[in-house]
Amino acid sequence: MVKDSCIFCSIINEEVPANFVYKDNNIVVFHDVNPKAKTHLLVVPRVHIKSFLDLGDSHISVLTNIIKVVQRLVKDKKLEKGYRVLINGGSHQIVDHLHFHLLSDQELVD
Ligand code: AMP
Ligand code: ZN
Repeated sequence: MVKDSCIFCSIINEEVPANFVYKDNNIVVFHDVNPKAKTHLLVVPRVHIKSFLDLGDSHISVLTNIIKVVQRLVKDKKLEKGYRVLINGGSHQIVDHLHFHLLSDQELVD
């Protein structure tokens, strides 16, 4: 998938709407449009990295940022009791822009 036709790049560029819960210079977080749990967030780096297997040494700071954002969300949104962080790959990956799923059976608090 080329960058121009990537749905997550379009969301990041605010050409396509999404229900954002967090934004910074490197990462955006928004609700999955088709949630598979009570809380289902997508944690997405602004940079278009295609997949988990495309991650390399140059992405260490992006990965660190993602982990910090996920940790903060789990704590701030009171999801500590039960949550999952998931990356799909291969035929399980529908959107070819790296993203971490944050899933929880806990309801999201503001
Ligand atoms: P994956 O299989 O890991 O590529 O998952 C892609 C996820 O993106 C799925 O859970 C979809 O429901 C979600 N998704 C696709 N398009 C959108 C969108 N426009 N806004 C929010 N979530 C989306
Ligand atoms: Zn993209």
